[in-house]
Amino acid sequence: MTTALHPDPDAAVRSEETARQPYAYRRRPLQEPDWRRLPGWRDVTEAEWESAQWQRAHCVKNLRQLRQVMGDLLDESFYADLERDQAERATMSMLLPPQMLNTMDASSTEAFLADPVRRYMLPVHGDRRTDWPSHPLASRDSLHEAEMWAVEGLTHRYPTKVLAELLPTCPQYCGHCTRMDLVGNSTPAVDKHKFTIKPADRLGAMLDYLRRSPGVRDVVVSGGDVANLPWPRLEAFVDALLDIDNIRDIRLASKALMGLPQHWLQDEVRAGMERLAAKAARRGAQIAIHTHVNAAQSVTPLVARAARAMLDTGIRDVRNQGVLLRGVNDTPAALLDLSFALLDEAGILPYYLYMCDMIPNSEHWRLAVWEAQELQHAIMGYLPGFATPRIVCDVPYVGKRWVHQLADYDRERGVSYWTKNYRTALEAADPDALTRRYEYHDPIYTLPEQGRAWWRDQAEAA
Ligand code: SF4
Repeated sequence: MTTALHPDPDAAVRSEETARQPYAYRRRPLQEPDWRRLPGWRDVTEAEWESAQWQRAHCVKNLRQLRQVMGDLLDESFYADLERDQAERATMSMLLPPQMLNTMDASSTEAFLADPVRRYMLPVHGDRRTDWPSHPLASRDSLHEAEMWAVEGLTHRYPTKVLAELLPTCPQYCGHCTRMDLVGNSTPAVDKHKFTIKPADRLGAMLDYLRRSPGVRDVVVSGGDVANLPWPRLEAFVDALLDIDNIRDIRLASKALMGLPQHWLQDEVRAGMERLAAKAARRGAQIAIHTHVNAAQSVTPLVARAARAMLDTGIRDVRNQGVLLRGVNDTPAALLDLSFALLDEAGILPYYLYMCDMIPNSEHWRLAVWEAQELQHAIMGYLPGFATPRIVCDVPYVGKRWVHQLADYDRERGVSYWTKNYRTALEAADPDALTRRYEYHDPIYTLPEQGRAWWRDQAEAA
């Protein structure tokens, strides 16, 4: 008879059982692809590669620069497809730090087209839907953040939390950016809105609002990406937040922790973050970095080094808020690979996966709510509970809701209905705000034929 103290004769059998699971966990060492395989970076040294200044100076911003890096690795057809997208559909301009471009598979045009990071950072016209490139109800600022600005750039949507958009730029531009209304340079398809108040005055007005808002405890310091704010200005802003007694949680939003980890590894940034972490600890407040990684291949040794450097400063956490995107991470294996790479190899907590918002020209990236529900189900039970990312739908005028929280769902027309339990400033005097149902819409091409016909009729009648 076997007891717990003796070797388990069934261990081998159980190991085979594990192998038969829908997902087989294996630790996978991180890899920094060799940038010297790309013709334009053949002579780039390790010291240059690890320099934030070199990375920023060599970002790819247009087709000419992409050709210089790629040499003859890509067919002309790729550049034509990219150029057409830039002219007709792109809501974000091109901006790729070498670090990000280097994680894409450029071994052939086919591999490049299929690459998950390429699919959302460097979209081409052929990626997009031609039947419904946009949902009829898609809109710029689909989350209506500007309508909820308490002062310019400070969105007060939840009772105890605010979002402070410090600046409208990032070191990298993602094709699916929710803040396409404001963030980045204008494109032929989108003339961007601009902040009207001078940056110093705007940040001052945000701090004044928070000093007179004792009900706010949590500030997401965002943009854009805080990595584009000169460090002394970011430190001064966060330092001032830490002087406000009711502020308990400060979250710094930076995709650059992945896209430009070299920024977060700079001595000035590390020393400054140490000062902020020490002050937060004295006050019993928390600082965390929220980053945005969508694919496991983006988690490289440099990214892990940057995340651990930030944790070493004494901040509370580094968490990931990815975006669920078709063709990028829309399988259980892709989501679990990403989550384990973050958690096991970089110390980054997989936290949220947002559904892609209803912005123009995003239909090819978006998933239906039922697909998100299936993915959430499929990834349960593999990761620790605290590190199992929640897939959330950011419902217009409501906020984040776990995808299983919907109140009702018309699968034929792809309309999900959601409720909420707090008022934004917009509904202060609205007696129905807490009983009303708010809508989110699935991509039309995912609907059954009757649903697709209904939307076609609506479009014709409009
Ligand atoms: S980093 Fe964030 S804010 Fe900047 S383009 Fe990407 S999604 Fe938008």
